[in-house]
Amino acid sequence: NVRQKAGLNRSILDQGWRMFRTLLGYKLADRGGKLVEVPAAYTSQTCSVCGRVDPANRANQARFVCTACGHTENADINAAKNILRRADYPLMPVEGHRIRRPNEAGSTRRAA
Ligand SMILES: [Zn+2]
Repeated sequence: NVRQKAGLNRSILDQGWRMFRTLLGYKLADRGGKLVEVPAAYTSQTCSVCGRVDPANRANQARFVCTACGHTENADINAAKNILRRADYPLMPVEGHRIRRPNEAGSTRRAA
């Protein structure tokens, strides 16, 4: 029963985000903007300088220290740079589309 309830809760949450994405896409299209979806997986564990993905890169919640190149930065700023770089691919309108491309960690997003 707990597993079924968790699945139901997940479905409700997915529906909320899907609706938010759809409405945001309409608003941006109406006002001349463009919504770009970026796979968020591992953005907080990826070095924005050398691309190394390692959970140990997170020295703590706030600090990012790359285990490969030694790059040190605020963890949120490092993750934001990774998200910006991922958005730098050819853009697609968001309505009815999901951008599919491999991410640095080699994993794929969970299908909705
Ligand atoms: Zn690095």
